[in-house]
Amino acid sequence: MTTVSVWIPGDQLLLQHPAIQIAEEQTTREQIHIILIESLERLRLFPYQRKKIVLLLSAMRHYADRLRTEGYQVDYIQAKSFVEGLQEHARRIQPQQLITMAASEYDTRYLQQKELEKLIGIPVTVVANTQFLVELYSPFANRKETRHAVMEPFYRAMRQHYGILMDGKESPSGGRWNYDELNREPLPRQLSVPPIVTFAPDSITQEVIELVNTFENGVGTTTHFEYAVTHEQAQQALNDFIECRLSRFGPYEDAMSTQGSVLYHAQISLYMNIGLLDTMEILQAAEAAYRQEQVPIQSVEGFIRQILGWREYMYWQYWQQMPDLRTANSWNAQRPMPQMFWDGQTRMNCIKHVATRVLDSGYSNHIERLMVVCNFCQLAGVKPYDVAAWFLSCYFDAYDWVVLPNVIGMGLNADNGRTTSKPYIASGKYIDRMSNYCKGCTYSPNKRTGPDACPFNFLYWNFLIENETRLRAGRSNQNVLGLRHINDQERLEIIQEARQFLQDTLQF
Ligand SMILES: Cc1cc2nc3c(=O)[nH]c(=O)nc-3n(C[C@H](O)[C@H](O)[C@H](O)COP(=O)(O)OP(=O)(O)OC[C@H]3O[C@@H](n4cnc5c(N)ncnc54)[C@H](O)[C@@H]3O)c2cc1C
Ligand code: SF4
Repeated sequence: MTTVSVWIPGDQLLLQHPAIQIAEEQTTREQIHIILIESLERLRLFPYQRKKIVLLLSAMRHYADRLRTEGYQVDYIQAKSFVEGLQEHARRIQPQQLITMAASEYDTRYLQQKELEKLIGIPVTVVANTQFLVELYSPFANRKETRHAVMEPFYRAMRQHYGILMDGKESPSGGRWNYDELNREPLPRQLSVPPIVTFAPDSITQEVIELVNTFENGVGTTTHFEYAVTHEQAQQALNDFIECRLSRFGPYEDAMSTQGSVLYHAQISLYMNIGLLDTMEILQAAEAAYRQEQVPIQSVEGFIRQILGWREYMYWQYWQQMPDLRTANSWNAQRPMPQMFWDGQTRMNCIKHVATRVLDSGYSNHIERLMVVCNFCQLAGVKPYDVAAWFLSCYFDAYDWVVLPNVIGMGLNADNGRTTSKPYIASGKYIDRMSNYCKGCTYSPNKRTGPDACPFNFLYWNFLIENETRLRAGRSNQNVLGLRHINDQERLEIIQEARQFLQDTLQF
């Protein structure tokens, strides 16, 4: 009887795993060995958010238990590296074949496709990744796109192909493809956001917490770990979002508040990214809530756009641009990541709130990632990969495939505009409009220069002055137009204050 092994990396905890399905076509369930590896090398690649490591290891261990109860033999290995774990398994079990699903990340996929067979000495079959809908839609999946591709047509094509939020083949439900302009309201002061569902750690999670507490390097702590670690719990978290928060997701999608980061957001990326939630099921559940008139069109469309649009587009961009994306730096930014992001110690109230929350919980919402962290780093000229390394370390949903296009591509516009055609930059006025951070800040969002001027302001104008020619030639012409109202004297003050802030406050 043929013995077949299936290697499942920890971010592929799928209920319907294609590598297992293929193994079942070749042999009996008893002859299938499923390998899950806790790789020390991988866990130490960055000083990771401790809650993320607890989530990952606990979810892997729960998944292993589930597979055992379904009748599979599970080889759960703690090894120095994936390769050592697989070599040891191959020696011990001597399978005729190893089947694995193509990883979402470049380095692991490279290992699977180019190196593994030689390293472990048995035939390796790499099956197509089914975690992303774009992988299953051939016009996007097969073509190595070299022309500039834009998110909006990508999103429309995906909606049409998968029939999501469509009335018939051609017409978007509600009559429009995109309700973005209805998705930009700040949170009203009197609105208090519903709490999100939490999960008490069980004995498996407790054991993992004790293990992670022994790790020397890492961000944050394991205390108050309350995230889902099984498919059923993740489903509960999704249901809670759809019932209690989706209806207001649209209007407050871009809002920020001292109340917290989740607001009317879903907080499901951490589960999607390791396979605890299935993309199509999420889309269908959201659409069903709309069809049953529980949520308005601008909320459901906004939410579906995030997933079928942005998430799939980012994954696609990653594979279009790797490996060059990792070193992209088209604005030639050379400064290191400021210390305030690693300890939350700063007078800038917005950064203090966001950084402290991320260091503690691993989460901040989308607009805080884009318009607070990346906006600041772009204006201050921080090296793109340094910013990406901060994200990879601190966020509980951070993986190479999602961080690089979001941070280096969208957030810092360092990939020559391939992900988004213009930089997402704004002054403190934007943050003031979309949040209540500025109310409690010692800086003023209304001042461009002077001792209490908001650093986002002089850094923003300094960036426009320094890059005027380049910005004028691109889609940022509108931003640059504002420079006409600034005289030479004020230009000089802006340049000097920006320089001084970067040297004195950030010690660059
Ligand atoms: C600079 C920057 C860095 C980011 N880093 C990460 C990251 O490390 N991991 C991560 O999963 N997402 C990342 N995102 C995307 C997005 O911010 C998060 O997915 C989202 O904030 C997660 O919280 P949520 O589940 O409450 O999402 P919601 O705001 O409720 O959105 C719903 C879902 O849409 C998806 N989504 C929305 N936008 C994106 C996007 N641009 N890329 C990928 N998925 C998207 C996510 O799966 C998310 O769960 C980043 C975005 C930016 C701008
Ligand atoms: S004034 Fe500037 S630094 Fe302070 S919270 Fe507002 S945007 Fe942030």
